[in-house]
Amino acid sequence: MMATKLDYYAVLEISRDANSDEVKKAYRRLAMQYHPDRNPGDASAEARFKEISEAYDILKDDQKRAAYDRFGHAAFEGGGPGAGGFDFGGGLGDIFEQMFGDMMGGRRGGRRSGSDIQVQVSISFTEAFAGVRKPITVPTRVTCESCDGTGSADRDQGAETCPTCHGAGKVRAQQGFFLVERVCPTCHGAGKVVRNPCTVCRGAGTVERDRTLEVAIPAGVEDGTRIRLSGEGEAGGKGAQPGDLYVHIAVEPHPIFQRDGANIYCRVPLRMTQAALGTEIEVPVVDGSRAKVKVPAGTQTGENFRLRGKGFSVLRSSARGDMYIQVSVETPQHLTRRQRELLDEFEAEAEDHARANPESTGFFSKVRDFFEGKL
Ligand SMILES: [Zn+2]
Ligand SMILES: [Zn+2]
Repeated sequence: MMATKLDYYAVLEISRDANSDEVKKAYRRLAMQYHPDRNPGDASAEARFKEISEAYDILKDDQKRAAYDRFGHAAFEGGGPGAGGFDFGGGLGDIFEQMFGDMMGGRRGGRRSGSDIQVQVSISFTEAFAGVRKPITVPTRVTCESCDGTGSADRDQGAETCPTCHGAGKVRAQQGFFLVERVCPTCHGAGKVVRNPCTVCRGAGTVERDRTLEVAIPAGVEDGTRIRLSGEGEAGGKGAQPGDLYVHIAVEPHPIFQRDGANIYCRVPLRMTQAALGTEIEVPVVDGSRAKVKVPAGTQTGENFRLRGKGFSVLRSSARGDMYIQVSVETPQHLTRRQRELLDEFEAEAEDHARANPESTGFFSKVRDFFEGKL
């Protein structure tokens, strides 16, 4: 397998005194060029990529590099006759992934846990008020049914004990004077390898599938809340931990209700006569019921009437917010001739402006003071 090995520095096309930055740069450039995802079906590119990854794995590590400089490839061939040192066969994407993450969108199996999944769910204002159960569909990796997650096409045989580490999941290698233990590069610590990979999942043990699950969204949830469903993310490869599912809640605005924390505000317009004479109005409550509010004579725009306990429930608490009816007095438009007459008469009827309209009386007396230089 490793009959002739190229010099690691030659593989990365760098000089022997290249610093770690130059090593990294050379690796990035070459790995991008020869990555199998970019050269599908090209065996020579794949072989070259393996060489590049192997060279980088040694030269990026000061200790390993020193051992290599001193002993050459012999520094890493501690596995005995036939073992041939490290076999990078299974680790193709691994090192690459460590460096580039999801940049290439590549997702290869390994011992790491499954990825977290983020989904956004939009709910109505009233659903946020009452709480709701929402079905959501998430694209996720699930255990491959064809091979029962073993990754092997031959179910009975399943996975075999890894020939490199003999099932230990770890290998020891002589590096110069050091005996170093590291995760087995063939099986990534699983201790098992698949000889005949499953054709459905190509050996990963998981396949991508849409999964529907119901999320219980609690009453009182606010716009932007994130709900974490532990273990509902992507399945990890071959028995690893699944990731988490994060559900981001977006609450749609409501045409008549506004929210501030646990309190709800509802702006209710009143006719001028209702505000002046006083009345009882019926107002909507978010839970779908109605409430009666007594509006006293002489009510002004901006006055609030509180409906205790009619607001949102507070998460993780038995407390509830209140609902506020915010009154605004509407001045009538497009009066009939008779209405104008009545209002003219109304105005002429006024006896004590200071008592009837204290705010405007107060304001205009300040204006007078201002022009007389008193304010
Ligand atoms: Zn499978
Ligand atoms: Zn192994």
